[in-house]
Amino acid sequence: MTTSLVVDEIRNLISELSSTTSDQLAPKQHRKLYVFFGTQYVNALEILDNSTIFSFQTPSENLKKFYEIVIPLEDSTKTFKLFKDINYCSCEEFQENIALSDKPTQFTCEHVLALVLAIHLNKIVPEIISNEKFEQVIKEIY
Ligand SMILES: [Zn+2]
Repeated sequence: MTTSLVVDEIRNLISELSSTTSDQLAPKQHRKLYVFFGTQYVNALEILDNSTIFSFQTPSENLKKFYEIVIPLEDSTKTFKLFKDINYCSCEEFQENIALSDKPTQFTCEHVLALVLAIHLNKIVPEIISNEKFEQVIKEIY
């Protein structure tokens, strides 16, 4: 398979996962994820086990939403804000290997992958926030 075909396959798999929900991954999806992502997939599963993934949305009709992965460290936490269907993360791995790289060596990071899996597996903790708070958070990101 050429590189672009692999990327297409990965895109299809990710959009399939984030547009459906299930209690568990189908064996075929599990296999593909492992083949495509290897260690990153294993790390993403670990994030699902050990971290909390919140969705924050506004109560308005035009729901605005972002996600936050809260990873527990020894005596603090590390958080990553993410958006559904947007392949972007502020982590070092993503910045170095994808965003700032001339020749990206990977498709995404373990956080984006963990979010895709969490959405599919219904492991999101929903929270409602005000429009003001939402705007404030978005300003902090950009
Ligand atoms: Zn990341």
